[in-house]
Amino acid sequence: MKDNQTNRRNLLKSGVRGLLAAGIGAAAVGSALQKESEEMVWQLDPAKCIACGKCETECVLQESAVKCVHSHGMCGYCDLCTGFFKPDPRNLDTGAENQLCPTNAIERVFIEDPYFEYHINEELCTACGKCVKGCGAFGNGSLYLQVRHDRCLNCNDCAIAAQCPSQAFKRVPKSRPYILKEGH
Ligand code: SF4
Ligand code: SF4
Ligand code: SF4
Repeated sequence: MKDNQTNRRNLLKSGVRGLLAAGIGAAAVGSALQKESEEMVWQLDPAKCIACGKCETECVLQESAVKCVHSHGMCGYCDLCTGFFKPDPRNLDTGAENQLCPTNAIERVFIEDPYFEYHINEELCTACGKCVKGCGAFGNGSLYLQVRHDRCLNCNDCAIAAQCPSQAFKRVPKSRPYILKEGH
């Protein structure tokens, strides 16, 4: 009789263990499937980008899906901004002849002496990368490029990725579609 009770208890215990294991297994499979089914999109890693200019010219869209973005948290609010001004500008003012950006896409706003704030007008930005290079050379690297997902077609094979000399493009989850610098 005692033997029968012990056997039943052991049977019940192993049954409960089996159910728990099955539950954990199902949860693991569920999360793997969820990961697998999560849509991926293209993004470029600003830490790898060397602002080569191909983001402007290689996108399948006539106007590139890549745009310049600005991390105000990293910016030095410099008067002599090397992302805004050409090297050796004639004057430190907003005259087109002094600006590095070929499309006047960067707006310079006076804050207080000697600080200025810089904003990107996305409609005008062509992703040429000139300001990114200028800011990276002598400034804080607060200007950088990102694929804008309100524009990108998420092509199977991104034409820019295929040409990028620094392998900066990669697939990222649609739920986290940007690779932002600190302070953004
Ligand atoms: S193609 Fe690559 S290196 Fe060139 S600007 Fe784009 S992300 Fe940067
Ligand atoms: S310099 Fe080029 S990348 Fe920078 S804001 Fe102007 S168009 Fe955009
Ligand atoms: S995925 Fe297509 S649309 Fe998007 S940046 Fe690349 S080439 Fe342009």
